[in-house]
Amino acid sequence: MSQNTRPSLRELEHHDAFLERHIGPNDVEIAHMLDTIGHASLDALTDAIVPASIKSAAPLALPSPVSEVEAIAQIRAIADRNQVFRSFIGQGYYGTHTPNVILRNILENPAWYTAYTPYQAEISQGRMEALINFQTLCADLTGMEIANASLLDEGTAAAEAMTLARRSSKSRSNTFFVSRGVHPQTLELLQTRAEPLGIVLHVGDDSEAAGLDAFGVLLQYPNTFGQIHDYAALSDAVHARGGLVAVATDLLALTLIAAPGEWGADIVVGNSQRFGVPFGFGGPHAAFMACRDAYKRSMPGRLIGVSVDAGGKPAYRLTLQTREQHIRREKATSNICTAQVLLAVMASMYAVYHGPEGLIRIATRVHRLSAVLAAALRSAGVTVGPDFFDTLHVVGIDADAILAKAEAARINLRRIDAQSVGISLDETATRAEVVVLAGLFGASIADIDALDAATADALPAALKRTSTFLQHPVFNTHHSEHELLRYLRTLADKDLALDRTMIPLGSCTMKLNATAEMIPVTWPEFGNIHPLAPASQTQGYKALIDSLEAMLVECTGYDAVSLQPNSGAQGEYAGLLAIRAYHRSRGEAHRDICLIPDSAHGTNPASAQMCGMTVVVTKTDANGNVDVEDIRRNAEKYSSRLAAIMMTYPSTHGVFEEEVVEICEIIHAHGGQVYTDGANMNALVGVAKPGKWGSDVSHLNLHKTFCIPHGGGGPGVGPCAVKSHLAPFLPRTLGAEGDVGMVSAANFGSASILPISWMYVTLMGAAGLRKATQVALLNANYVAKRLAPHYETLYMGRNGLVAHECILDLRPLKDATGISAEDVAKRLIDFGFHAPTLSFPVAGTLMVEPTESESQHELDRFIDAMIAIREEIRAVEEGKLDREDNPLKHAPHTATAVCGSEWTHAYPRELAAFPLAVLRQQKYWPPVARVDNVYGDKNIMCACIPIEAYKETADA
Ligand SMILES: *Cc1c(COP(=O)(O)O)cnc(C)c1O
Repeated sequence: MSQNTRPSLRELEHHDAFLERHIGPNDVEIAHMLDTIGHASLDALTDAIVPASIKSAAPLALPSPVSEVEAIAQIRAIADRNQVFRSFIGQGYYGTHTPNVILRNILENPAWYTAYTPYQAEISQGRMEALINFQTLCADLTGMEIANASLLDEGTAAAEAMTLARRSSKSRSNTFFVSRGVHPQTLELLQTRAEPLGIVLHVGDDSEAAGLDAFGVLLQYPNTFGQIHDYAALSDAVHARGGLVAVATDLLALTLIAAPGEWGADIVVGNSQRFGVPFGFGGPHAAFMACRDAYKRSMPGRLIGVSVDAGGKPAYRLTLQTREQHIRREKATSNICTAQVLLAVMASMYAVYHGPEGLIRIATRVHRLSAVLAAALRSAGVTVGPDFFDTLHVVGIDADAILAKAEAARINLRRIDAQSVGISLDETATRAEVVVLAGLFGASIADIDALDAATADALPAALKRTSTFLQHPVFNTHHSEHELLRYLRTLADKDLALDRTMIPLGSCTMKLNATAEMIPVTWPEFGNIHPLAPASQTQGYKALIDSLEAMLVECTGYDAVSLQPNSGAQGEYAGLLAIRAYHRSRGEAHRDICLIPDSAHGTNPASAQMCGMTVVVTKTDANGNVDVEDIRRNAEKYSSRLAAIMMTYPSTHGVFEEEVVEICEIIHAHGGQVYTDGANMNALVGVAKPGKWGSDVSHLNLHKTFCIPHGGGGPGVGPCAVKSHLAPFLPRTLGAEGDVGMVSAANFGSASILPISWMYVTLMGAAGLRKATQVALLNANYVAKRLAPHYETLYMGRNGLVAHECILDLRPLKDATGISAEDVAKRLIDFGFHAPTLSFPVAGTLMVEPTESESQHELDRFIDAMIAIREEIRAVEEGKLDREDNPLKHAPHTATAVCGSEWTHAYPRELAAFPLAVLRQQKYWPPVARVDNVYGDKNIMCACIPIEAYKETADA
């Protein structure tokens, strides 16, 4: 090679850049696609789409892109600044062994972590089975009739229990009693949530509850100090006054003590963290809610249920899912959207792996170690509270002196007050640790086995568990590693996730979740840190959080960021609370109107509702833009009461509205604040900044734009970003000062997944982030353009271009042929695709957001499928296919249906299964045919399917 043509070192290294892997199309494809849509360059395309009034003048002030090797080295240095001590702090978080088979095959497996929320039932049967196992686990252990598929954390679950009790209680009281025995973070959450809703909290000793006029009570069992109380009489007294009994509990303890459902609880919440999910500095973990059957229709969060498919086989689906998709908007009682699916799957598999006997063995060992430690302490004259499972309340000691000794031994205990500490043991505790713990208090254990033999259990005799649980075969079959490994593989194989196909969902930004971004998540330096570990041990987390906050400030143009909210909806709630507190601080507490365009995501009105605001819905014009005149009219009409507008930008209709700056001015002129829903930041990063065009606050979805995988419906991180005047009103941390309380149970929400977004920004750098946005715009416009001869795109912005997503209008085709958007969505499954977003924000449409990570090859594959489907619709139109008996109406087609000995359809089997020749090489077979939605909502069944149900259909 001659000197002149040889590439330079710099050029060679450029091709190692991560951003070239993150962004799907290469430069040749980009040029071709630009050509297809008629633009000369990415910059020219951006200029044609994004209004000049909002475009950033300067590039992002972030470093240059780096390689994966370099980024991992950087985060390694950050991780090493955390110190992993042994934490016996408890307070809702306990050490746990994640079974390695679960670690590698779920938490580190893209088949599980890149899945989407199971709205498309037919391609989500595997993860829904895992979730129904979770529901069964929670319902069985709590002794309740029904449980949901996870909530965000124990604190918010308790707050949801409070509002569920209020909706369901016969009492007219406005008071909710909270036991002093609940975890401090739970109490904080209840305070945050109660006040805007006008609920009065009465915090007191358990004995006060019986005589109080309250719509409900919250007890903790075992309580935060470890004690187990008998609440049967108290429950009766509460019920007698028409109140409901909510209980926060611990699943592991419930394997040994009577289930709350057996002594009178109506609603039970808790955290499943210690079922194999590491501390992670506070999250993510799956909380749960279980309740009596009577309340199932007003339960928050998602519920997996059993229905039947078109062939009469049992099939899972999201029960009452239309309710959740629209989150009941203005009538909402909860804003839960993203929850904690991946963590719920892990916890459920922990139970599947260990089974009921294994769980009892683990719990018993923890209890025995605790009892032995208590005995040793008592024999040394130290006072320990009675009736515990795993947590000792050690009183009458010099707490700080003990903590100093503990620290020297690299041990964390809970400081309760100057004279007492808490010690919570867990499944990772060893005999040697118990000896060391005893030593901290001057107690010695000479022969731990002898002490064990001589020490009685400390569980109250009257509250020993006698009922069985987890009797379903799924919890009694997969106890060997091979069995579990194959069960996990079987479930994953039923599903479509990003490891198999693009997931072209509008609004949800299913982009690449790179392996390098995921790697730090399972490092012990991030995973094994208790959320209440002393600051001296969490300097790595502090550096990571400070750095990520600064990155997000730079990307958004705001001044301050809170990483506490653990979902987008929680970020909305935090942002609206900040607005509310700001108005109050200026003597304008009466401002309570929140304008929300009708195209908004359902969580927007739901969050406003939870802040005690009144929602006024504004119109959208024929072009899909928010109607500025309607906003102006309403801002004037409610001028003195105007609190805020919540708008999504670019809009949920996939359009960059030109008037966004003007809208901000109108709202500000009337004393309101502008909330920009940042779920669509993938169209903005590096191109425009909401904080600079007049918006006051946004939430971001790090699980959309910033690469945290969707996990099948969580975990998420929903940072709240604000301008400086709102910064004092961001949520406080536990025990800190501040006008606005905590919105998540942990100070930094889902802390252990923050490395993912940090890695993404570090890898991409300023240049990569901007290019990603530009290619996201390019990909969406390429899809819209190539499908234009076949499908109408509903809304376009300037120059006939869309933003980062496009809405395909199927309504004219439905009118002409009877083929619906749902039929197209289901037919895509036969082509091996996950469907686009169905009927949101406009009924009868499909919304496609390809993201920058899809290569031209994958886009073309999708486009080919959509064109082939259009041809099938045309065949229906022309009478070549029957209007009812056609492959669209009967999609998706299972292998059982296609290979059956009988084939009665009016179209050939081949067309059913292999509508394109390429499918012969690579075929996804859906495990069930189209799932019956109506049946599932009429016959709500939310626990593991009895084996007999399958036998019946096999015989049929
Ligand atoms: C996803 C989304 C939300 C809600 O975010 P979660 O993390 O699911 O709570 C809010 N608004 C829009 C526009 C969204 O797309």
